[in-house]
Amino acid sequence: MATSAGGSKKRSKAERPTLGSASREVILIEIGPDRVKYYVLKAFLTHYSQYFNKSLNGPWKEAEDRKIALPDVEPTVFNIFVNWLYTQAMPKSRSAWFRVSELSWNPYETTKDLDLLMIKAYIFGDRFATPRFSQLVLDQFASHNICNGDTPWYSNIIYAYDNLSASNVMLKLLVDLHSHFWDVDHDDEKEPDGIQDQLPRAFLLSVMRKQTKMISDLEDKSAKEHLTACSYHEHATDEGRKECQKRIKDSQCIYCEENSASESDEDE
Ligand SMILES: [Zn+2]
Ligand SMILES: [Zn+2]
Repeated sequence: MATSAGGSKKRSKAERPTLGSASREVILIEIGPDRVKYYVLKAFLTHYSQYFNKSLNGPWKEAEDRKIALPDVEPTVFNIFVNWLYTQAMPKSRSAWFRVSELSWNPYETTKDLDLLMIKAYIFGDRFATPRFSQLVLDQFASHNICNGDTPWYSNIIYAYDNLSASNVMLKLLVDLHSHFWDVDHDDEKEPDGIQDQLPRAFLLSVMRKQTKMISDLEDKSAKEHLTACSYHEHATDEGRKECQKRIKDSQCIYCEENSASESDEDE
């Protein structure tokens, strides 16, 4: 997925719908194997997603029935998407992600579960052609992993490789995070035995290449890579990239946001 990132002043062709002015036409979307029902304003779905625009404005059954079934999408993922669809904002903190998605909180697996949810949300945006949504998810995922020097969970790496095309920028991010931050102590008992053996060959080869490059860059200080979420954007101009990097630098990751919120004793 090519993400055309923030900082651009380009206006989208069609005016954004607003809750007041949008037509009241709703689409019934049934999510997951239990067919959880969501009634979503059509104007928002078709404005932000090429996929829904095609399926709801074409000569298809979905358009006529005003109904779409997505049995392989999880409600937690769709909750994040619908929240973004109407607010154009992502949950700001870790606990807000749990609250908005309604993902159940398992204190032993919090980072693993939340990272997996973020990867699934990213994949949703990729599949349903909402690049802006995917980019915002990727930004948050990158920022908190970079801020904390975390390596991605093996099970999450395997899931991402199973569900994204080989050239996807999320896979590059996973390789970079692992290459920059992994050390032996990162392997703990929280991941099942033998899971390393299941790591995709493409992932391991990319890590090898990346680490070789990092070693050769050690000689040349100017070549040393400084990871930021912006490394995974396409920007048309240098100016756009600089603006974006500044914006990312000035914003907090969802984990830091969580800590400053609890320090000031505010809700989120
Ligand atoms: Zn950027
Ligand atoms: Zn942080």
